[in-house]
Amino acid sequence: MTKRNPDYDFKWCPGCGDFGVMRALEKALEERCKTANELIENTVVVAGIGCSGNIVHLQDGPQPYGIHGIHGRTLPIAYGIKAGNPKLNVIITAGDGDFLSIGGEHIGPAARRNLDVVCIIMDNGIYGLTKGQASPTTQLNVITATTPLGKLDEAENPLELYLTNGVGFIASLISTKPKDITKAILDGINYPGLAIIHIQSPCTTYNDTYALLKGDVKNDIEPLAIDLPESHDPTNYSSALEIARRNKIPVGILYNKEGSISMNQKIDRQKQSSNAQQRSVDELLSTLRLK
Ligand code: SF4
Repeated sequence: MTKRNPDYDFKWCPGCGDFGVMRALEKALEERCKTANELIENTVVVAGIGCSGNIVHLQDGPQPYGIHGIHGRTLPIAYGIKAGNPKLNVIITAGDGDFLSIGGEHIGPAARRNLDVVCIIMDNGIYGLTKGQASPTTQLNVITATTPLGKLDEAENPLELYLTNGVGFIASLISTKPKDITKAILDGINYPGLAIIHIQSPCTTYNDTYALLKGDVKNDIEPLAIDLPESHDPTNYSSALEIARRNKIPVGILYNKEGSISMNQKIDRQKQSSNAQQRSVDELLSTLRLK
């Protein structure tokens, strides 16, 4: 609940990873306004359904435009906004349940189109809002409300999915490092094409993975999240894919494809090289009227 939106009655649980992501997003938007000399109204946040989607209501500071759409359809909504007004910064905020299950089918087309939007994906490996059902990234054998004897299907590997679908900018981060998230969001806005910032954002109520991610010496738990080595070259696709397929969660900028040309840049090039006359909306509508 914010001062600007006092009627919205939703609260994240204490310790939820989404708090860190929200602070990082607020900071990134503030920085973007300053460095690009832009008004906050130049940014639209498109939220998915789930605990994480509530970021669009809870966010403090300068308020961008926001739309809390329908389940799994953040990418199509963002596509419509970007096609209608290419000058806007469009930022998606969604969880693993929304973006990788019902929304998963949109990732490939958005990557091939090279839609110029930033997706901030908060992965907690569970459906938190609906009280703890297994999601695509819930690990094998984990007991949840829908898998009382342990999850039978293998967990999705989102980084591998993004890479093999052709996403050009991929960061893999953890919610406890908001400064890194802020920087990645700003890099993603500047990237010409589809940028995904995939963040491990633990759900303290239904799937608390903090100890697994960071490790716990007392309980002999090795950290699952490991910083990318300095030697990693993010422009190297094969290296990024090899790292994504390891049994660990890399932390850092995994992939940054060189020479990316965004959907809107491709449209502009077509317009410049074509002799076709552009018709106004009224002219287009008139062709649909019955005579
Ligand atoms: Fe966060 Fe989980 Fe609580 Fe939802 S249920 S607010 S994801 S801790």
